[in-house]
Amino acid sequence: MLCSPAAVECPKTLAEALQLRAAKPQACLMAGGTDVMVLIERDVIKPTEVINLLSIEDRGVRAIECNENELCIGALATHSQIWHNAQVVKNAGILAEACASIGARQIQNRGTIGGNIANASPAGDSLPVLLALDAEIELQSVRGARRVPMSALYTGYRRMCTEPDELITRIFIPIKKDENVNEFSWFRKIGPRRALAISKVMIAARLQVENGIVKDARIALGSVAATPVRAPKTEAALIGHAIDPSAALKLSEDIHPIDDLRSTADYRMTVATKTLSTWLSSLCG
Ligand SMILES: Cc1cc2nc3c(=O)[nH]c(=O)nc-3n(C[C@H](O)[C@H](O)[C@H](O)COP(=O)(O)OP(=O)(O)OC[C@H]3O[C@@H](n4cnc5c(N)ncnc54)[C@H](O)[C@@H]3O)c2cc1C
Repeated sequence: MLCSPAAVECPKTLAEALQLRAAKPQACLMAGGTDVMVLIERDVIKPTEVINLLSIEDRGVRAIECNENELCIGALATHSQIWHNAQVVKNAGILAEACASIGARQIQNRGTIGGNIANASPAGDSLPVLLALDAEIELQSVRGARRVPMSALYTGYRRMCTEPDELITRIFIPIKKDENVNEFSWFRKIGPRRALAISKVMIAARLQVENGIVKDARIALGSVAATPVRAPKTEAALIGHAIDPSAALKLSEDIHPIDDLRSTADYRMTVATKTLSTWLSSLCG
Protein backbone atom coordinates (compact mmCIF):
# COMPACT_ATOMS: atom_id res chain seq x y z
CA MET A 1 0.00 0.00 0.00
CA LEU A 2 1.18 3.52 -0.85
CA CYS A 3 1.51 5.75 2.24
CA SER A 4 2.37 9.43 2.36
CA PRO A 5 2.44 11.74 5.39
CA ALA A 6 1.22 14.65 3.21
CA ALA A 7 -1.66 16.75 4.51
CA VAL A 8 -4.47 16.67 1.95
CA GLU A 9 -6.74 19.67 1.34
CA CYS A 10 -10.09 18.84 -0.28
CA PRO A 11 -11.65 22.09 -1.59
CA LYS A 12 -15.35 21.74 -2.44
CA THR A 13 -15.47 24.74 -4.80
CA LEU A 14 -13.21 26.19 -7.47
CA ALA A 15 -13.05 29.47 -5.52
CA GLU A 16 -11.77 27.57 -2.48
CA ALA A 17 -9.22 25.70 -4.60
CA LEU A 18 -7.93 28.96 -6.10
CA GLN A 19 -7.55 30.46 -2.61
CA LEU A 20 -5.62 27.39 -1.49
CA ARG A 21 -3.44 27.48 -4.62
CA ALA A 22 -2.63 31.16 -3.97
CA ALA A 23 -1.83 30.52 -0.30
CA LYS A 24 0.18 27.33 -0.94
CA PRO A 25 1.80 27.52 -4.39
CA GLN A 26 4.31 24.84 -3.33
CA ALA A 27 1.56 22.29 -2.55
CA CYS A 28 1.25 19.33 -4.93
CA LEU A 29 -1.88 19.51 -7.09
CA MET A 30 -3.56 16.19 -7.65
CA ALA A 31 -6.50 15.41 -9.93
CA GLY A 32 -6.81 11.70 -10.87
CA GLY A 33 -3.37 11.05 -9.38
CA THR A 34 -2.34 8.62 -12.15
CA ASP A 35 0.91 10.53 -12.71
CA VAL A 36 1.35 11.97 -9.20
CA MET A 37 0.90 8.66 -7.36
CA VAL A 38 3.55 7.01 -9.54
CA LEU A 39 5.99 9.82 -8.70
CA ILE A 40 5.24 9.50 -4.96
CA GLU A 41 5.62 5.72 -5.10
CA ARG A 42 8.99 6.07 -6.83
CA ASP A 43 10.13 8.75 -4.33
CA VAL A 44 10.59 11.22 -7.18
CA ILE A 45 8.43 13.70 -5.23
CA LYS A 46 7.72 13.79 -1.48
CA PRO A 47 4.91 16.29 -1.08
CA THR A 48 4.10 17.52 2.41
CA GLU A 49 0.87 19.15 1.21
CA VAL A 50 -1.55 18.02 -1.50
CA ILE A 51 -4.51 19.91 -2.98
CA ASN A 52 -7.01 17.30 -4.16
CA LEU A 53 -8.71 18.86 -7.19
CA LEU A 54 -11.15 15.98 -7.66
CA SER A 55 -13.07 17.18 -4.58
CA ILE A 56 -14.16 20.32 -6.49
CA GLU A 57 -17.87 20.06 -7.25
CA ASP A 58 -18.31 23.06 -9.60
CA ARG A 59 -19.88 21.93 -12.85
CA GLY A 60 -17.64 24.23 -14.93
CA VAL A 61 -14.44 22.24 -14.24
CA ARG A 62 -16.13 18.86 -14.68
CA ALA A 63 -18.66 19.19 -17.50
CA ILE A 64 -18.33 18.85 -21.26
CA GLU A 65 -20.48 21.46 -22.99
CA CYS A 66 -20.93 22.69 -26.52
CA ASN A 67 -22.33 25.83 -28.15
CA GLU A 68 -22.36 26.73 -31.85
CA ASN A 69 -18.79 28.06 -31.72
CA GLU A 70 -16.85 25.87 -29.35
CA LEU A 71 -16.60 22.74 -27.32
CA CYS A 72 -15.71 23.35 -23.68
CA ILE A 73 -14.19 20.54 -21.62
CA GLY A 74 -13.69 20.88 -17.86
CA ALA A 75 -10.12 20.11 -16.80
CA LEU A 76 -11.40 17.44 -14.39
CA ALA A 77 -13.19 15.52 -17.15
CA THR A 78 -11.73 12.02 -17.28
CA HIS A 79 -10.50 10.38 -20.48
CA SER A 80 -13.48 7.98 -20.29
CA GLN A 81 -15.98 10.84 -20.00
CA ILE A 82 -14.36 12.51 -22.99
CA TRP A 83 -14.29 9.57 -25.36
CA HIS A 84 -17.85 8.55 -24.43
CA ASN A 85 -19.21 12.06 -24.99
CA ALA A 86 -21.32 12.41 -28.16
CA GLN A 87 -20.40 16.10 -28.67
CA VAL A 88 -16.68 15.28 -28.52
CA VAL A 89 -17.10 12.36 -30.91
CA LYS A 90 -19.04 14.59 -33.32
CA ASN A 91 -16.94 17.76 -33.13
CA ALA A 92 -13.47 16.60 -32.09
CA GLY A 93 -13.34 12.93 -33.03
CA ILE A 94 -9.55 12.73 -32.89
CA LEU A 95 -9.61 13.85 -29.23
CA ALA A 96 -12.06 11.03 -28.46
CA GLU A 97 -9.68 8.61 -30.23
CA ALA A 98 -6.66 9.89 -28.29
CA CYS A 99 -8.44 9.66 -24.92
CA ALA A 100 -9.60 6.13 -25.75
CA SER A 101 -5.97 5.17 -26.41
CA ILE A 102 -4.64 6.36 -23.04
CA GLY A 103 -3.55 3.54 -20.70
CA ALA A 104 -6.26 0.98 -19.98
CA ARG A 105 -9.81 1.46 -18.63
CA GLN A 106 -8.70 2.06 -15.02
CA ILE A 107 -6.43 4.93 -16.12
CA GLN A 108 -9.09 6.33 -18.47
CA ASN A 109 -11.66 6.28 -15.64
CA ARG A 110 -9.38 8.14 -13.25
CA GLY A 111 -6.96 10.27 -15.31
CA THR A 112 -8.11 13.73 -16.35
CA ILE A 113 -7.43 15.84 -19.40
CA GLY A 114 -6.18 18.67 -17.17
CA GLY A 115 -3.68 16.26 -15.61
CA ASN A 116 -2.51 15.07 -19.03
CA ILE A 117 -1.92 18.68 -20.13
CA ALA A 118 -0.25 19.77 -16.86
CA ASN A 119 1.94 16.68 -16.68
CA ALA A 120 3.44 18.20 -19.84
CA SER A 121 5.04 14.99 -21.07
CA PRO A 122 6.11 15.15 -24.74
CA ALA A 123 4.46 11.69 -24.93
CA GLY A 124 1.11 12.88 -23.52
CA ASP A 125 -1.45 11.57 -26.01
CA SER A 126 -3.96 14.42 -25.90
CA LEU A 127 -1.33 17.11 -26.47
CA PRO A 128 -0.67 16.92 -30.25
CA VAL A 129 -4.40 16.48 -30.82
CA LEU A 130 -5.21 19.66 -28.87
CA LEU A 131 -2.53 21.43 -30.94
CA ALA A 132 -4.05 20.21 -34.20
CA LEU A 133 -7.51 21.30 -33.03
CA ASP A 134 -6.32 24.86 -32.19
CA ALA A 135 -7.42 24.38 -28.57
CA GLU A 136 -7.13 27.10 -25.95
CA ILE A 137 -6.36 26.31 -22.34
CA GLU A 138 -8.11 28.34 -19.65
CA LEU A 139 -5.96 29.16 -16.61
CA GLN A 140 -7.56 30.59 -13.49
CA SER A 141 -6.21 32.13 -10.31
CA VAL A 142 -7.64 34.40 -7.64
CA ARG A 143 -6.51 37.22 -9.98
CA GLY A 144 -8.85 36.11 -12.77
CA ALA A 145 -8.97 33.88 -15.86
CA ARG A 146 -7.02 33.89 -19.12
CA ARG A 147 -6.92 31.70 -22.20
CA VAL A 148 -3.62 30.48 -23.64
CA PRO A 149 -3.47 28.88 -27.10
CA MET A 150 -2.16 25.33 -26.88
CA SER A 151 0.62 26.42 -29.26
CA ALA A 152 1.93 28.87 -26.60
CA LEU A 153 1.40 26.75 -23.46
CA TYR A 154 4.69 24.84 -23.36
CA THR A 155 7.92 26.78 -22.96
CA GLY A 156 10.33 23.83 -22.76
CA TYR A 157 10.67 20.25 -21.58
CA ARG A 158 7.84 19.75 -19.05
CA ARG A 159 7.54 23.50 -18.58
CA MET A 160 4.39 25.57 -19.08
CA CYS A 161 3.83 29.32 -19.14
CA THR A 162 1.59 29.08 -16.05
CA GLU A 163 2.00 31.24 -12.93
CA PRO A 164 2.48 29.49 -9.56
CA ASP A 165 -1.05 30.40 -8.42
CA GLU A 166 -2.86 29.20 -11.56
CA LEU A 167 -4.91 26.08 -12.21
CA ILE A 168 -5.97 24.65 -15.56
CA THR A 169 -9.76 24.93 -15.46
CA ARG A 170 -11.19 24.39 -18.97
CA ILE A 171 -10.20 23.50 -22.52
CA PHE A 172 -11.89 25.26 -25.45
CA ILE A 173 -11.93 23.77 -28.94
CA PRO A 174 -13.32 25.82 -31.87
CA ILE A 175 -15.92 23.88 -33.83
CA LYS A 176 -17.55 26.40 -36.15
CA LYS A 177 -17.44 24.93 -39.64
CA ASP A 178 -17.79 26.56 -43.04
CA GLU A 179 -20.38 24.53 -44.99
CA ASN A 180 -18.34 24.80 -48.21
CA VAL A 181 -15.30 23.28 -46.60
CA ASN A 182 -14.66 19.57 -46.06
CA GLU A 183 -12.73 18.79 -42.92
CA PHE A 184 -10.60 15.67 -42.52
CA SER A 185 -8.84 14.77 -39.29
CA TRP A 186 -6.66 11.90 -38.20
CA PHE A 187 -4.80 10.65 -35.11
CA ARG A 188 -2.17 7.94 -35.04
CA LYS A 189 -0.31 6.70 -31.98
CA ILE A 190 2.64 4.46 -32.64
CA GLY A 191 3.91 2.40 -29.73
CA PRO A 192 5.17 -1.10 -29.04
CA ARG A 193 1.59 -2.29 -28.33
CA ARG A 194 -1.95 -0.92 -28.29
CA ALA A 195 -2.43 -0.41 -24.53
CA LEU A 196 -0.25 0.64 -21.61
CA ALA A 197 2.71 1.67 -23.74
CA ILE A 198 4.35 5.06 -23.98
CA SER A 199 4.19 6.31 -27.55
CA LYS A 200 7.21 6.32 -29.83
CA VAL A 201 5.50 8.84 -32.13
CA MET A 202 2.06 10.43 -32.28
CA ILE A 203 0.62 12.44 -35.15
CA ALA A 204 -2.57 14.42 -35.25
CA ALA A 205 -3.67 16.14 -38.44
CA ARG A 206 -6.56 18.26 -39.61
CA LEU A 207 -7.13 19.46 -43.18
CA GLN A 208 -9.75 21.87 -44.49
CA VAL A 209 -10.39 21.33 -48.19
CA GLU A 210 -12.48 23.59 -50.43
CA ASN A 211 -13.17 22.71 -54.07
CA GLY A 212 -10.38 20.13 -53.97
CA ILE A 213 -7.76 22.58 -52.65
CA VAL A 214 -6.31 22.48 -49.13
CA LYS A 215 -7.40 25.72 -47.49
CA ASP A 216 -5.82 25.15 -44.09
CA ALA A 217 -3.71 22.44 -42.47
CA ARG A 218 -2.64 21.47 -38.98
CA ILE A 219 -0.06 18.76 -38.47
CA ALA A 220 1.10 18.18 -34.88
CA LEU A 221 3.40 15.56 -33.43
CA GLY A 222 4.28 14.18 -30.01
CA SER A 223 7.31 12.22 -28.73
CA VAL A 224 9.62 13.81 -31.32
CA ALA A 225 10.81 16.87 -29.35
CA ALA A 226 10.88 18.30 -25.82
CA THR A 227 7.32 19.57 -26.29
CA PRO A 228 4.49 18.66 -28.66
CA VAL A 229 5.18 20.47 -31.95
CA ARG A 230 3.46 21.68 -35.11
CA ALA A 231 4.99 20.94 -38.51
CA PRO A 232 4.81 24.36 -40.25
CA LYS A 233 6.76 23.44 -43.41
CA THR A 234 4.62 20.36 -44.00
CA GLU A 235 1.49 22.44 -43.42
CA ALA A 236 2.74 25.08 -45.89
CA ALA A 237 3.49 22.41 -48.50
CA LEU A 238 -0.14 21.26 -48.27
CA ILE A 239 -1.93 24.61 -48.25
CA GLY A 240 -3.04 26.00 -51.62
CA HIS A 241 -2.75 22.72 -53.53
CA ALA A 242 -4.70 19.53 -54.12
CA ILE A 243 -3.86 16.98 -51.40
CA ASP A 244 -0.33 15.78 -52.13
CA PRO A 245 1.00 12.77 -50.16
CA SER A 246 4.59 13.79 -50.96
CA ALA A 247 4.14 16.83 -48.67
CA ALA A 248 4.83 14.35 -45.84
CA LEU A 249 8.51 14.38 -46.90
CA LYS A 250 8.69 17.95 -45.55
CA LEU A 251 8.46 16.50 -42.03
CA SER A 252 12.24 16.01 -42.22
CA GLU A 253 12.55 19.82 -42.14
CA ASP A 254 10.10 20.21 -39.27
CA ILE A 255 11.10 17.58 -36.73
CA HIS A 256 14.44 16.41 -35.40
CA PRO A 257 13.67 13.43 -33.16
CA ILE A 258 16.32 11.85 -30.96
CA ASP A 259 17.40 8.29 -30.13
CA ASP A 260 16.22 7.23 -26.69
CA LEU A 261 15.18 4.13 -24.73
CA ARG A 262 11.86 3.87 -26.54
CA SER A 263 12.97 4.31 -30.15
CA THR A 264 15.52 5.64 -32.60
CA ALA A 265 15.46 8.96 -34.42
CA ASP A 266 15.44 7.11 -37.76
CA TYR A 267 12.43 4.99 -36.83
CA ARG A 268 10.49 8.00 -35.58
CA MET A 269 11.20 9.99 -38.74
CA THR A 270 10.43 7.10 -41.09
CA VAL A 271 7.22 6.04 -39.40
CA ALA A 272 5.95 9.63 -39.06
CA THR A 273 6.58 10.31 -42.76
CA LYS A 274 5.12 7.03 -44.00
CA THR A 275 1.98 7.09 -41.87
CA LEU A 276 1.23 10.72 -42.77
CA SER A 277 1.82 10.02 -46.45
CA THR A 278 -0.46 6.96 -46.29
CA TRP A 279 -3.24 9.00 -44.66
CA LEU A 280 -2.89 11.75 -47.26
CA SER A 281 -3.01 9.14 -50.06
CA SER A 282 -6.21 7.70 -48.59
CA LEU A 283 -7.85 11.13 -49.00
CA CYS A 284 -6.86 11.34 -52.67
CA GLY A 285 -8.70 8.16 -53.70
C1 LIG B 1 -0.36 2.65 -16.12
C2 LIG B 1 -0.39 4.03 -16.73
C3 LIG B 1 -0.60 4.16 -18.09
C4 LIG B 1 -0.62 5.45 -18.67
N1 LIG B 1 -0.82 5.54 -20.03
C5 LIG B 1 -0.83 6.76 -20.62
C6 LIG B 1 -1.00 6.87 -22.03
O1 LIG B 1 -1.17 5.88 -22.76
N2 LIG B 1 -0.98 8.12 -22.56
C7 LIG B 1 -0.82 9.24 -21.80
O2 LIG B 1 -0.83 10.35 -22.34
N3 LIG B 1 -0.66 9.15 -20.46
C8 LIG B 1 -0.65 7.95 -19.84
N4 LIG B 1 -0.47 7.85 -18.48
C9 LIG B 1 -0.26 9.07 -17.70
C10 LIG B 1 -1.53 9.64 -17.01
O3 LIG B 1 -2.52 8.68 -16.80
C11 LIG B 1 -2.14 10.83 -17.79
O4 LIG B 1 -1.17 11.82 -17.98
C12 LIG B 1 -3.36 11.41 -17.06
O5 LIG B 1 -4.11 12.18 -17.96
C13 LIG B 1 -2.98 12.29 -15.87
O6 LIG B 1 -4.16 12.83 -15.31
P1 LIG B 1 -4.41 12.82 -13.73
O7 LIG B 1 -5.69 13.51 -13.52
O8 LIG B 1 -4.28 11.46 -13.17
O9 LIG B 1 -3.19 13.74 -13.27
P2 LIG B 1 -2.45 13.82 -11.85
O10 LIG B 1 -1.56 12.64 -11.67
O11 LIG B 1 -3.41 14.10 -10.76
O12 LIG B 1 -1.57 15.13 -12.12
C14 LIG B 1 -0.60 15.16 -13.16
C15 LIG B 1 0.12 16.52 -13.11
O13 LIG B 1 -0.79 17.55 -13.46
C16 LIG B 1 -0.95 18.50 -12.41
N5 LIG B 1 -2.37 18.86 -12.47
C17 LIG B 1 -3.42 18.00 -12.50
N6 LIG B 1 -4.56 18.68 -12.72
C18 LIG B 1 -4.22 19.98 -12.83
C19 LIG B 1 -4.97 21.18 -13.08
N7 LIG B 1 -6.30 21.16 -13.29
N8 LIG B 1 -4.31 22.35 -13.13
C20 LIG B 1 -2.96 22.40 -12.97
N9 LIG B 1 -2.20 21.31 -12.73
C21 LIG B 1 -2.83 20.10 -12.66
C22 LIG B 1 -0.49 17.78 -11.15
O14 LIG B 1 0.02 18.67 -10.19
C23 LIG B 1 0.62 16.90 -11.72
O15 LIG B 1 1.80 17.65 -11.88
C24 LIG B 1 -0.45 6.61 -17.87
C25 LIG B 1 -0.24 6.45 -16.47
C26 LIG B 1 -0.21 5.18 -15.92
C27 LIG B 1 0.00 5.06 -14.44
